[in-house]
Amino acid sequence: CGIVAYVGERTAYPIIIKGLQRLEYRGYDSAGIALVNGKINVYKCKGKVMDLEKLSQDKDISGSMGMGHTRWATHGEPSDTNAHPHKSMKGKFYVVHNGIIENYAHLRKELQNRGYKFTSETDTEILANLIENIYFEQKVSAELAVRLALTKVVGAYGLVIFCEDEPGTLIAARKGSPLVIGVGEKEYFLASDATPIVEYTDQVIYLNDEEVAVITREKLELKNLYNDSKTPDIKTIELSI
Ligand code: GLU
Repeated sequence: CGIVAYVGERTAYPIIIKGLQRLEYRGYDSAGIALVNGKINVYKCKGKVMDLEKLSQDKDISGSMGMGHTRWATHGEPSDTNAHPHKSMKGKFYVVHNGIIENYAHLRKELQNRGYKFTSETDTEILANLIENIYFEQKVSAELAVRLALTKVVGAYGLVIFCEDEPGTLIAARKGSPLVIGVGEKEYFLASDATPIVEYTDQVIYLNDEEVAVITREKLELKNLYNDSKTPDIKTIELSI
């Protein structure tokens, strides 16, 4: 339902929490966040962003990269386990996802045949494991594993992903579910609509269907699923805060 992510030089947590609150108007049943700072911390729960804040109180909320999600359940009941972010079985990939993976049952069976086990009932966890399986079996980069996985997916997605092995890189992708990237000075903001971004920058890139953005605090690289480079079309938005 709602996605907010950040990579830059500031502490990601307050930016993501505030952003998720700005997306609350869309409705949701669960909230979660993943933060990267040497190690990866994930906090998620059924309920409101306020419940997520309570859960993260007194916990390690450091890190200048992270991503958050508010979930509107489509596959699997609203629960702490089904809340995003989802982690792949071997712990390499973390995913937040808006939308629906239509061929999830087929993909799930294929992955189970390869020894994958699932802890949630979501279609999203299948994506995390599909990417991880390709990453290990084909020994490709995280970005290529994401692109190859997405060519197998039928459905709609707005996605933000990161890999444990590349702790400063966010990978974003979309098809049929919006994602906006805010461009700052040595920082990028991602969200499922512009409302969480406008207070930080008016320079935005709207991802198109089947586009993938590979983002560090230093740079953004845009391409399609088939590795054709794209020139980011940076627009100036006028939105009152
Ligand atoms: N299909 C996913 C789920 O049920 C994502 C739902 C959403 O867009 O929030 O977890």
